[in-house]
Amino acid sequence: MKLKFYGATQQVTGSMHLLEFDNNSKILIDCGLQYESGDKLDINDKFPFNPSEINCIILTHSHIDHSGNIPTIVKHGFKGTIYCTKPTASLVENLLYDSVNVQYAVNKSKKKGKKSKQNTVLYSSKHVKESLEHIKLIDFHNKIKINENFSFTFYNAGHILGAASVLAEINENGKTIKIGFTGDLGKENSKIVVNPEIMPDIDYLVCESTYGNRKHKCLNTAEDEILNHINLSCKNKKGRLIIAAFSVGRTQAILFTLNQLYKRGELNGIKVFTDSKLGIQSTRVHEQFDEYMNNEAQEFFKKHGDLFNFPNLKVIETEYDQQDLNYQNEPYIIVSSAGMVEGGRIQQHVRNNIHNPVSYILIAGYCADGTLGNKLLQGQKSIKIGSFESPVYAKVTSTDIFSAHPDRDGLVKYLKDSENKNLKKVFLIHGDKKTIEGFKEYLEEINFNKIEIPIRGNEYTF
Ligand SMILES: [Zn+2]
Repeated sequence: MKLKFYGATQQVTGSMHLLEFDNNSKILIDCGLQYESGDKLDINDKFPFNPSEINCIILTHSHIDHSGNIPTIVKHGFKGTIYCTKPTASLVENLLYDSVNVQYAVNKSKKKGKKSKQNTVLYSSKHVKESLEHIKLIDFHNKIKINENFSFTFYNAGHILGAASVLAEINENGKTIKIGFTGDLGKENSKIVVNPEIMPDIDYLVCESTYGNRKHKCLNTAEDEILNHINLSCKNKKGRLIIAAFSVGRTQAILFTLNQLYKRGELNGIKVFTDSKLGIQSTRVHEQFDEYMNNEAQEFFKKHGDLFNFPNLKVIETEYDQQDLNYQNEPYIIVSSAGMVEGGRIQQHVRNNIHNPVSYILIAGYCADGTLGNKLLQGQKSIKIGSFESPVYAKVTSTDIFSAHPDRDGLVKYLKDSENKNLKKVFLIHGDKKTIEGFKEYLEEINFNKIEIPIRGNEYTF
């Protein structure tokens, strides 16, 4: 059996790993979109194997860097089954249709004013619809036998709702090999999601390393952290708090935290608006799957009957709602996407507030280099959104309390907990080159050897 690495090697996007068996059957773990800075979208249109030869895809979670190239592989002849959890199936439906909309919008803006008819859209709604027809729902902890040689089990990864780690069991030539694929892990004691689970007795581990060089700074509880920002903006200055949050997972964690604060009586006189189409769709999916959430969320749901709705909350769904927002009196809070302030409704709110010294922009997630969120956090004195330019007078700040990945210490704990007498090698993926190399160095300093950093196209025979 061979394990081949075709994505997320020394980079964060494009997760795709291939298991190739002696009898020629082929199984993919994830089929994500690659969108590293400077990449052209069409690099995703070619696969290093024949898509029609892939027997099945095991999807760890719904994020586009893990799922976003599924419609392309379907377009190119993939006919097999896609296995994922129920929440992942519901979230991925919204995310893939959103991906089509984003691709068409980017394509349209690129063509504007140019004669080029070149199409830079990878797939259409038709391919998304076809992809969804391949999905088979699998629950956590159920061992699924694909054939005589291969079975797998999902474990909670604790990253976003429904996110799974995959324990792959390979039986060939009279021996059994267990390979664990972490998928994206979450950090312990996160809002809504359960803690990551350790896969037992693994021989090899393919481990994400997104924050292998980072230490989470925020030591507050999420409620205290958000309340602190509300005090600084809405309460002390009677101003606006604009929170930039990813649509899937982050928006729901923030709305749940705001609901908890509302129940504590901390939001008196402060309205909350949530303004992101994908964020609203994702919240509706979350509402259907409370049984997949952690104890805190389940207890809250049992007691109050609602996780994300509270009387102060207004969901912005129509253009009329959006216009209405312009006439609201402070203080108020807006939760909007995109998380990196690149595109999405958040840009409108940043435009409306950037010149206002009593507005407060809180970035609640990672912002890649070159994104507007990153520029704001670097203290850029003025911003440009399309033809709009303005000096920055609003206060800009960030929090990592809602981070959906473990930091270096969290990853080390996970690796130590995964250690067993059979573990022969850990492959580090899903982190940029500098992060992964730094993390490997650190692990070796603390005597955790057995580390390998694969590059794209590397194959390992077991
Ligand atoms: Zn993810």
